[in-house]
Amino acid sequence: MDMGGNCVKIAIAGTGYVGLVTAVCLAEKGHNVICVDVDKNKIEYLNNGGNAPIYEEDLDNLMKKNRRNLAFTTDYKSAYQDADVIFIGVGTPEKKDGSANLSYVFEVAKQIADSVINNCVVVIKSTVPIGTNEKIEKFLLENKKTNGDIYVVSNPEFLAQGTAVNDTLNASRIIIGVEEEKPKKIMLDVYAGFDAPKLVTNRRSAEMIKYASNDFLALKISYVNEIANLCEKIGADIEDVTRGMGYDSRIGSKFLMAGIGYGGSCFPKDTKALYWLSNFHDYELKTVKAAIEVNENQKLKLIKKAKKYYNSFENLTIAVLGLTFKPGTDDLREAPSMINIPIFLEDGANVKVYDPIGEKNFRKIFKDEIIYCKTIEETIKEADICFIFTEWKEIEEFDVAKFSILMRRAVILDGRNCFKLEQMQNNCEVYESIGRRIIYRK
Ligand code: NAD
Repeated sequence: MDMGGNCVKIAIAGTGYVGLVTAVCLAEKGHNVICVDVDKNKIEYLNNGGNAPIYEEDLDNLMKKNRRNLAFTTDYKSAYQDADVIFIGVGTPEKKDGSANLSYVFEVAKQIADSVINNCVVVIKSTVPIGTNEKIEKFLLENKKTNGDIYVVSNPEFLAQGTAVNDTLNASRIIIGVEEEKPKKIMLDVYAGFDAPKLVTNRRSAEMIKYASNDFLALKISYVNEIANLCEKIGADIEDVTRGMGYDSRIGSKFLMAGIGYGGSCFPKDTKALYWLSNFHDYELKTVKAAIEVNENQKLKLIKKAKKYYNSFENLTIAVLGLTFKPGTDDLREAPSMINIPIFLEDGANVKVYDPIGEKNFRKIFKDEIIYCKTIEETIKEADICFIFTEWKEIEEFDVAKFSILMRRAVILDGRNCFKLEQMQNNCEVYESIGRRIIYRK
């Protein structure tokens, strides 16, 4: 490779939410991209149908449109050997002690060291603890089989599931953590077609920007959730409170939605990983610790509310609306449904669930332990209580008059404040949401 040319041959390790969306968006910008995954079924699926194995708005369409620039393989050697740039987008899940599990990233590094025959820039897109880029570079330089140069660049990802394609094509910023001029120039070539602010920093700062951003958002959510909990006790309304706060541009109106806590594959693990890292460096991040604790309690908040109406869930029919950790995604990782539904089942409840997109993934885990419904009506029919865990549009737009008509007892516990209080006044026996007054049938 001529380190400095415009024509960049890209390989991407991992075809998950980050890897696949990145690949498709880079292809949309005219690059040739080959995607590698160890999951044979995924690669077969991608090669056969041309559809995405995950749900993200516009992903299927964009994949089909750019099919000619995209290839998928399990054969990492052929993909990596002459790539100019290799993105690593594999998972960095949480270990038992809260630290980040880097085994997948190091496995890819090993495969890269075995494969590359030319000069190459290795770009770490996975969220990794501060100092990891340096470790990967040291590993590659010690283990590479080529005489060519290998550089490691940190390029953290900020897409949000549910809006991943749009977030990538219209990125809020592109962070490039790099130590030398040559790889910097190549990265700026890769992103030349993206009209986003580009910030070049050293690698440690780039790694820190990712954690600091995610943990700040998690903190913001936990803060609002605590204020909401207090609102319930003192008779204030969290929706009004956050609306009032949001006018202040220093605070901003986004991410001020009270609810039953954050989930997903990022905030829970990234808060724990940074907290772990701070302790490792003999400094305790107390704010992040508080955000984690508040969130863990918040996820069980509706169950505590439910105990006011039922001592036990045994033999009750429980309707659950929303399974995914947020709307717009099929991802169930760390979703409130994943913690609450096992408690219902353990107690001996009959559980009926509805989710417009997440059902397929939920079936893989809960199999026939629960009843899967195609409509909200079917789910709430004859139910003794209804829990709302995800604010899907289909749920927010539901005709609430049907709750009292169809449910055996219209006890509705809404963890996402999907409905206006006035709407619920005559349409339920009781409606409890987060940070707002309780509505009882008059
Ligand atoms: P994911 O679990 O959806 O996908 C990871 C993929 O990597 C899987 O398909 C897996 O089979 C594959 N893989 C594992 N080992 C491999 C190997 N040796 N070679 C090739 N592929 C391999 O993960 P994700 O949600 O896309 O997250 C990836 C990284 O990006 C994580 O570090 C995460 O923290 C970070 N991130 C995620 C998001 C998000 O919203 N999901 C946003 C920003 C950053």
